[in-house]
Amino acid sequence: MSSKMPVLFVGHGSPQNAVEHNEFTHRWKQLPHQFSKPAAVLCVSAHWVSEGTRMTAMEQPSTIHDFTGFPPKLQKFTYPAPGSPALAQRVQELVKSVPVKLDSEWGLDHGCWSVLKQMYPAADVPVVELSIDSALSPSEAFRIGKELASLREEKILLLGTGNLVHTLGLMQPEAKPFPWAIEFEQALKSDLQNNPANLVNFSRYPHYALAQPSADHLMPLLYVLGAAGEDKPEFFNERIVMGSISMASIIWGKDYSEGQKELDRHFLNTCRKHSNSAFLGKYLPVSSKN
Ligand code: ZN
Repeated sequence: MSSKMPVLFVGHGSPQNAVEHNEFTHRWKQLPHQFSKPAAVLCVSAHWVSEGTRMTAMEQPSTIHDFTGFPPKLQKFTYPAPGSPALAQRVQELVKSVPVKLDSEWGLDHGCWSVLKQMYPAADVPVVELSIDSALSPSEAFRIGKELASLREEKILLLGTGNLVHTLGLMQPEAKPFPWAIEFEQALKSDLQNNPANLVNFSRYPHYALAQPSADHLMPLLYVLGAAGEDKPEFFNERIVMGSISMASIIWGKDYSEGQKELDRHFLNTCRKHSNSAFLGKYLPVSSKN
């Protein structure tokens, strides 16, 4: 087994995914079986956009409930993973292209904890978040990812969490994927496979303005892509829900084995036999910030 940790980008969708069992969270639960337990997770979430580049550096990050319109139970949800001030300082050392400020006010937002609750339910892996700097271009974000790539050899899992297509304003509960959403997602996937450096030009892809009205859910991809280096992407959870939210997720640097694929096919067939929206998870309307 390689000593290098893989890199992940996860399409997170609804915060409810933290507590539901559906086709997406099924795969999230499987991920830790594909690689060794990390010493810590460095998360870049769509939900932390800041002025300047910031890094959570507290011993115990709080759980942030940065959404509205979900059941009260979710507002009380906590994910008490410890932080890692030491990792925050390591990131500060490694990133040379921009100053990194250590932050004691943020915490873990739902882009991060909804996924990690399913991957590491015991919350026993330390987690730090790196913010998306609102002033940086995609190529500058990509460069930060490159500067962080050596963390993979220090057992740090780099996790980007967003959505390849994220158009809340056009979501419809039972809608099939909109053609423009499919086209935009395909353009991203094609370049991820064949010409990843071209991703820094994502705003030139067809239907960009429709598929990513604010780009915040796509920027985490650029950070982790920089850390992925020459590794080839493997896609999973390749589905667009409610017409305009892509749940497509990517792992680099770890084989998605045929055995695992077979298990997943079996699970999906079972899901679809009993297909109903309750099982697959409801995607409730969320505020424009989510
Ligand atoms: Zn989100």
